Amino acid sequence: MTQFFNAKDAVVTEAVDGFLRSAGGRLARLDGYPHIKVVVRTDWDRSKVAIVSGGGSGHEPAHAGFVGQGMLTAAVCGDVFASPSVDAVLAAILNVTGKAGCLLIVKNYTGDRLNFGLAAERARAFGLTVNMVIVDDDVALPDLPRARGVAGTLFVHKIAGALAEAGEDLETVTAAARRVIASVVSIGMSLDTCTIPGSPKEDRIKSGYAELGLGIHGEAGVEQVVFTSARQAIAQVVERLAPHVKPGPQVALLNNLGGATHLEMSVLAEELARSSIADQVKWIVGPAAMMTSLDMQGFSLSLMPLTKEAERCLMAPVAPWAWPGVNPFGDFAVLPLPDGLTPIQPMPSAHAGRRNLIARCCNILIAAEADLNALDARTGDGDTGSTLATAARSLVKALDRLPLADLTQLYRAIGMELSQTMGGSSGVLLAIFFTAAGDASASGRDWIEALGAGLERVRQVGGAEPGDRTMIDALVPALEALPQGLGAAARAAREGADFTGTIRRAKAGRASYISEDRLRGINDPGAEAVALLFEKLSAGADLAQPAE
Ligand code: ADP
Ligand code: MG
Repeated sequence: MTQFFNAKDAVVTEAVDGFLRSAGGRLARLDGYPHIKVVVRTDWDRSKVAIVSGGGSGHEPAHAGFVGQGMLTAAVCGDVFASPSVDAVLAAILNVTGKAGCLLIVKNYTGDRLNFGLAAERARAFGLTVNMVIVDDDVALPDLPRARGVAGTLFVHKIAGALAEAGEDLETVTAAARRVIASVVSIGMSLDTCTIPGSPKEDRIKSGYAELGLGIHGEAGVEQVVFTSARQAIAQVVERLAPHVKPGPQVALLNNLGGATHLEMSVLAEELARSSIADQVKWIVGPAAMMTSLDMQGFSLSLMPLTKEAERCLMAPVAPWAWPGVNPFGDFAVLPLPDGLTPIQPMPSAHAGRRNLIARCCNILIAAEADLNALDARTGDGDTGSTLATAARSLVKALDRLPLADLTQLYRAIGMELSQTMGGSSGVLLAIFFTAAGDASASGRDWIEALGAGLERVRQVGGAEPGDRTMIDALVPALEALPQGLGAAARAAREGADFTGTIRRAKAGRASYISEDRLRGINDPGAEAVALLFEKLSAGADLAQPAE
């Protein structure tokens, strides 16, 4: 089992109930498990046109997530990727339909067409007025007489829902739904297949490839394309949509197929803004997961011409939380940085010895990047080497700006550089270290004492003591031994760093979340960085007194 499910057969009923528990009483379901899984509004008096949709489950939040004031009146949930039965659809229609009638919004899949279609027939036999529209927005299969229905269905739900909520009659609502269906186009792309509960995951899409033009039921896409970047992915999707898009302003709907991260979806939105169609996209719905395909790591893009009616209906307020709203798509403000973040730069000055020392320190850290990352990957998040190397690279670039001749200013300037360029714990700790060393140097302490004062401040602020399995375990002995020369400092730092490999319980940093047996024998990356620095310096060094 790779997913948080219980028994395969119970997935949908348990999920519907779990969903209803947090709906605040706004929604209910009809009795009729396991075959009839229908979610309905509790604040519904049948006085307006009822909007019923649904289909297989696995597309959450569609469809139950869109039940509520301003969108669907009822959602009929089938089993995963399986159409609900005629009886289930009929139960929904009978429950919600009054004199104003009912519109069924159905995606173009054979099972859904048949089950919803027959249920509509039977409801009419009960004397109810029922219209049905079929959504076919997918442009992936150009030669197909009727395309599949995918995420563009959300536009139909929203616009029909808004009109029904406003009290329009069934024919008006149906005609508007048909206009949306005639004009909306969608296409999807995914980097991986989805995991169907109870079935092994199909390994269809090779690494480095994406599938273009997929449906929402795990079926293979129309073609596999080489995947290189989010930019190219959006370009390919836009290229497929473009022939179907008329000139003029559009509303985009950027849908997460279920398994893409929010971070990825935002990057895709940014790429949409840089794409060839960007000028036409005036409004956007999402990015959000609306019509998903279980955990598929993909997205779909739908486009619909912006009309006055669409604009008004899309903006009408709705109760369902899953509707992400529609927003203008375009520029945003970039505000100037507050004063105080751009400090007065000290006057640069020259000092060959210190310049050489700093450059060597930086080169040592840059060379150690991969090794330190590997250590951090085992006990933390794998970035200590990159954090230090990034800082080292920018410090090398800053050499010409540094006040090398004035030790006090130099310590402070290094602290400032590090605070600007380094993230992570090690970054801010080293920024504190050098800033405090600068302060101590200003009050007359010699260069080694000043570093000692910096270390003292790191201990105060960071709260780690010797023995807690941090860089402190290497820095403390190294600075103590430094008056005896670099060789002594290097030996002491190495001893301290190796000692961290024997500490079974970390008390600071990320390693404190790691169990004892996973720490065994692995040096703390921060301490290792200190040891490597002193070792490499002393190996090539005649620099015992670089600062004087
Ligand atoms: P992050 O945990 O933010 O990814 P880094 O990977 O940049 O941090 O740095 C991790 C190193 O920081 C650890 O190996 C450890 O030596 C050091 N460290 C973490 N917390 C402290 C602390 N409170 N005091 C001193 N050093 C610390
Ligand atoms: Mg880290």
